[in-house]
Amino acid sequence: MAAHLPADTGQYVTAILDNLNTRPERTALRWRGRTVTAAELHRAVTDAAEGLRGLGVGPGTAVGLLTEPNGPLGLIGRYAANLLGATVLYVRSTNPGPDSPELPAADQAEILRVSRADLLLVDAANTPRGREVAALLDGAVAVAALGEAGEVGSVLAATAAGRREEAAVPGGAVVIFTSGSSGRPKGVVKSFTAWNGAVLSAYRYFPPQTFLVITPVGHAVGPLLDIVLAAGGALVLHQRFDAGEALRAVAEEGVNSVYMATPQLYALLDHPDLATADLSTLRQVTYGGCPASPRRLAQALAGPFADILVQTYGTSEAGSIALLGSPEHHKPELLPSVGRPFPGVEVRVLDPETAEELPAGETGEVVMRSAHVMSGYLADPELTARTVREGWLHTGDLGYLGEDGHLFLVGRISDVIKSRSERIHPAAVEKALTAHPAVADATVYGVTDEDGLEFVHAAVVLAPDASVGADQLRAHVGELLSPLHAPVRIVALPSLPLGESGKLDRALIRLLDRTATALGDA
Ligand code: AMP
Repeated sequence: MAAHLPADTGQYVTAILDNLNTRPERTALRWRGRTVTAAELHRAVTDAAEGLRGLGVGPGTAVGLLTEPNGPLGLIGRYAANLLGATVLYVRSTNPGPDSPELPAADQAEILRVSRADLLLVDAANTPRGREVAALLDGAVAVAALGEAGEVGSVLAATAAGRREEAAVPGGAVVIFTSGSSGRPKGVVKSFTAWNGAVLSAYRYFPPQTFLVITPVGHAVGPLLDIVLAAGGALVLHQRFDAGEALRAVAEEGVNSVYMATPQLYALLDHPDLATADLSTLRQVTYGGCPASPRRLAQALAGPFADILVQTYGTSEAGSIALLGSPEHHKPELLPSVGRPFPGVEVRVLDPETAEELPAGETGEVVMRSAHVMSGYLADPELTARTVREGWLHTGDLGYLGEDGHLFLVGRISDVIKSRSERIHPAAVEKALTAHPAVADATVYGVTDEDGLEFVHAAVVLAPDASVGADQLRAHVGELLSPLHAPVRIVALPSLPLGESGKLDRALIRLLDRTATALGDA
């Protein structure tokens, strides 16, 4: 297919395409030992865009994207759709890591229904699922297959009568999903303006670099990958994180920069190959996503990451909020901090009760505003209104500001547990547990290990005469929600302890969690 696309300016995809054109022979992507050159990536994106345009994709339309985790098509599909002004929805999973369970077809169909998408773009591996989703929508959504080189192949399940109505999300947005309090996925809508601005405002300041991608391309790291490509860099895409392979890739691919979730940094520190790995090309290791243990950071600083660690704090809704730079890592008093706000980000700490701004040193809810925050939750104006108030995004995180503007996080307002990069709402897991006939009552809570990593635990009261194994309860929760929601430890109690006010005594539950015998497997 020849490429005849508008030469837009001020468009992040155009900025990427322009750069790919400047040195067409250079490596743009590395994936499964294969090289995609700049020319090949350019062609893949423009061919896909042209194919999509032929299917009616353009401003005001929305396209679901269901491709292998972290493969090139997850980027090519987004670039093509965004180039045409269409909205993109990453429907594979919440926090779409390779190990995150895929959303059930019914949830994926529901996302497409509420967003009024009319096309689901799949790769070969996801074609059967694409057909299943389309069938649930009575063919109201067409399924199109992206070929390995980005060309859009045949339309697999044709839409009934072309476009029906304007998509429910503004043109050019990108929608990523996190888990919601009901256990259903919650769509975080990044407007085109926010995403575009995040990329265009930054890429000129980035030197060309080889960037290792081990976290989901369809999540928080997305704009950073676009920045790397627009700045003339290359992406080394790993489908799943493997500490040994990540260490090997640094020398083999000449990796200069990587973003990782904090537990992945710990995995690198614990890996036997770290001592012998050649990391001489590495210039920056950025980590974040959950609290970092100062003890583990000290360990990282004593090793090969001494002068290249950068911590970021952000949320799906907010994008990037704060950054702790490499030199700051050498000030022990700053190791418990998540750093200072990024340029263009304003951070305040509010009294959770009165919403009054608190002075430095006092703990309250962290709120922020910037040009890059979400425009809202997909089809949930009430939750949006509760989360973004008077232009300030409420993060749900508790923290305080130091005298010199460093932000320190101390916990969360809600009881959300962030385990293995997935947000887990205890109420959803409690509901799933009590839906099991052997469970009369249940409470679910997060337990933190010595590195500060959180795990889902549960205390249950069994129904009279019931007997059930922990493995059976985990499988049940896994089925209703996802395996990541399944409590790693379950204790059975005769009753849940209530405090004087009649509310659950959470402190006592945590004590019992440590002292009671865990429920065994069946
Ligand atoms: P998500 O939107 O799933 O990435 O989760 C965002 C949440 O992760 C934030 O609200 C914080 O609770 C937590 N988080 C992200 N980055 C950090 C960090 N650097 N330190 C502590 N917690 C973090």
